Amino acid sequence: MIAAKDQTADVYQPQADICRALNHPVRLAILDILRDGEQCVCHMEAMLGLRQAYISQHLMVLRDAGLVEDRRDGWNVFYRVTRREVYKVTDAMSTLTGQPARQIAHVRSAADCPCPKCNI
Ligand SMILES: [Zn+2]
Repeated sequence: MIAAKDQTADVYQPQADICRALNHPVRLAILDILRDGEQCVCHMEAMLGLRQAYISQHLMVLRDAGLVEDRRDGWNVFYRVTRREVYKVTDAMSTLTGQPARQIAHVRSAADCPCPKCNI
């Protein structure tokens, strides 16, 4: 019976891994920020009001789960979502909790953001 249990765990492990990657408010906020396309880490810093090292830790979790990828351009590192299906999951979570799907713009603005996109 132990073998059967292990097999069950194996079947669901990939889904559990995605759940683990999504299991943090900061990572959900990062996905919210990246919804309209790639952003540099400094933009996330401005939007989240968190230190870059802390944001980078969460980006690594999302990257290890295969949900985002990074691209370096000069001094800036940009991140983008590689699996846009993830927004179906986050939208479903918004429906379950009764909260708006896109919250980051209501929480904070990037008014003082130094990133290239905000300073064209
Ligand atoms: Zn910006």
